[in-house]
Amino acid sequence: MAEHLLVSIGKARFSDPDRHLIPFVNDIEQDKFLNDIENTPHAFVLACLMDRQIKAERAWSIPYRIKDIVGSFNIDDLASVSLEEYKNIFNRNILHRFNDIMAEVFYSAVQDIKVKYNGDASLIWSNNPSSAKVVYEFLQFKGSGKKIATMAANILARQFKIPFSDYYSIDISPDVHILRVMRRTGLVDSNADLDSIIYKARELNPEFPGIIDFSCWETGRTWCRPNNPNCNECIIRDDCKKVIF
Ligand code: SF4
Repeated sequence: MAEHLLVSIGKARFSDPDRHLIPFVNDIEQDKFLNDIENTPHAFVLACLMDRQIKAERAWSIPYRIKDIVGSFNIDDLASVSLEEYKNIFNRNILHRFNDIMAEVFYSAVQDIKVKYNGDASLIWSNNPSSAKVVYEFLQFKGSGKKIATMAANILARQFKIPFSDYYSIDISPDVHILRVMRRTGLVDSNADLDSIIYKARELNPEFPGIIDFSCWETGRTWCRPNNPNCNECIIRDDCKKVIF
């Protein structure tokens, strides 16, 4: 079977050796902070854990807002804040849709990073780990799940260019854009669920299923909009069945 364009484009993006600033929030100060995984790797981990049930930009802005409120992002300072105080911070500033729950997730992750990783969250991905190890470590955080864990591993591998010993366990983490593109291309049925999409991505590129994550997302956000998809200019138009429903 010929390689699908989504895979070829994903591989081309992955082979770019340069690391670019990831526009998590589309705010230069906040994005620099979240991209600084050498100095504040826990900001990236905590932002991943906040990315549930609200718009991604809002979720990823939470660590920066807490830094402003606490006046520090040093892990010891964050760990000295009590759970009750985090609940107050989240509720007072309406940081999330589920403020009590996400305050607990934040508090618990800070304690884990301080105790389990000696304050250095980058130990999760240091020393050329296997993809399964990194996904497993992210799954251990309270409030995490397969979607968050594979998203985190995907960003570390593809965008932060962290070396892994393999990429087999990095699945695609489907969002609305990815779901729409996979259905319209005809790669999956028009009513396919998230699990079907994960397995189709494994079939397309078993050694790194998540490699199509970004090419799907980019296609969905740029050309394959919910209404009036721009098929004429779409980068995968030659490999798409254009199942518009
Ligand atoms: S060719 Fe059209 S339907 Fe197919 S992915 Fe691109 S915009 Fe969507």
